[in-house]
This record gives sequence, C-alpha cells and structure tokens, in this order.
Amino acid sequence: MIVDCHCHAGTGDGFRGPWDTEARIDRHLERARAAGIDRTVVFPVFNSDYAAANKRLARIVRAYPHELIGFAAVDPARDAWRVDMMVRRAVEDDGFRGLKIHGMDSFPNRAVCEAARRYRLPLLIDVVRRVAAVEMLAGQYPDLTFIVPHLGGFADDWMTHLSVIDQLCRYPNVYADTSGVRYWEVLARAVKRAGAHKLLFGSDGPLLHPALELYKIELLRLPPAQQALITGGNILRLLAPSGALPNPPVRGAHDQASRASSSPMISRGIRPDMLSSRSSGAPRRDAT
Ligand SMILES: [Zn+2]
Repeated sequence: MIVDCHCHAGTGDGFRGPWDTEARIDRHLERARAAGIDRTVVFPVFNSDYAAANKRLARIVRAYPHELIGFAAVDPARDAWRVDMMVRRAVEDDGFRGLKIHGMDSFPNRAVCEAARRYRLPLLIDVVRRVAAVEMLAGQYPDLTFIVPHLGGFADDWMTHLSVIDQLCRYPNVYADTSGVRYWEVLARAVKRAGAHKLLFGSDGPLLHPALELYKIELLRLPPAQQALITGGNILRLLAPSGALPNPPVRGAHDQASRASSSPMISRGIRPDMLSSRSSGAPRRDAT
C-alpha cells in the first residue's frame, strides 16, 4: 500500500496564496490515484481558526473514507487554552490520527505534546529550518513520534537537511518526510545514513504533484522492501498505536487502472497525464 503522509485539503481565510486559501483535494486525488497512491494523510492549509478548519477537514475526510486519513492542525500558542478540547474532538468525534503544527504559526509547547501523548498521536511539525526544536522535543518526549516535513525545511537549505539526517540517526522517535525536498542527493544520503525506516514519502499536494514526489523515491532504486517502508510501511507503522486504519481500501474502478501502482513508475513509464498539474503559482518558500 502506497501512503502519502503529507497533503493539504480544505479552505483557508488568509488569501495570501494557495497555502492559506484553498487546497482542492479532488484534483489532488485524481493525480494520486493515477500514481498508484492508496492513502493520503491530509491536514488543513493555514487558517486563523484551526478548530473550524479541522471540522471542515473532517467533512472532506468523510467524503473519501477509503483514501484520506485526517491530521488535526493546531497553533500551539493561539490554541493553548483549548488544545485539549480540540485534540479530543479531533480524535473522538472525527477520527483524526495525528497532529500537524507549522512553525510559521508557533512551535509545539508542553500542552500540545501532552495532548498528543494522551491519544498516542504522531506529530508532524514543520520546524521551518529551526532544527533545535527537534532536539528539545525528541529529548523531552522520547515516547512521542515526531515527523519533520521537508527534511527540515522547504527552502532548499542543505545544512538544515544534514542536521535533520543527523537527528534521524540519533533519535529513534524522529522521522522525516520527503515532500518538497529538491536536493535528491540528500534523500539518498538520508537513506544511507539513517536508514529507510526513518523516511516517509510525502507529496505536499496539491501544490506539488504526487507522481513527481513519488518518482523521487523510486529513483533511489532501493531494494523493494526498503522502498516499501518509505512509500507506506513507515507511516502505517507509526499510525498503528492509535488503532487500526478506520476503513480498508476499496478496489474501485480507478484502482483497476492504477493497480500498476504497485510496480514502480520506473518500470511502467510515466505517462504525460500523470505529470500534468492544474496548480498555478509557486509555493511560498517555507510556507507549505
Ligand atoms: Zn505542507
């Protein structure tokens, strides 16, 4: 099963760019299905009210119960007074499976970590190249799972990537996702140094194309078992403590066409339609 651990869905209210305005999951899922991706972890775009955004996201997840896995977004500073309530509702009412925090909102605090611990939720935290936060979090909460998107930052910062690879080696509870990492050689280095069990395939859709992001992993030409860890095995293992996946995958019509999904794109070739993107505009650096 191929699982994308990083995608956005739903509407925002900032209107500075797509990252806080709208992420169209229907368009993204068309591309994901064509790429053979079975499941996609989704969280909101930037919002001024994540409780409301999570509720909107829950409706989207319910519309695609066999394809989407919801992560709730929280702004640790702004939501400090209600984080317990937000996490409880996200998990108990809406079946969310993890938390998403973006350092451009604020950084995780103890209240957020305690709430995650209560429900054994993994935390996907964009540290926006401030990798020292990973040291603090992983050290204080060795029993929590931390996923660092973009290998530490969306802004092609080589030194940040190297620092996070080092953290992957030193902290058993720290993982990184591959979304938006432009320096492909760094991904190869990460696997070699930290191991395939520490990397998670993510697309950062809908702005980034899931087929392109998946192809980066396939180009590593790893042994099939290692590639399978990165493209789904790891995130499924990390989600396991909070319970089994809510719905088994359904083999629908699109699946017939995309069953090739289990074979690497390298061997089946990439069709031009898989690479078409309706997204417009470049993502703000460090923003997604
Ligand atoms: Zn993102």
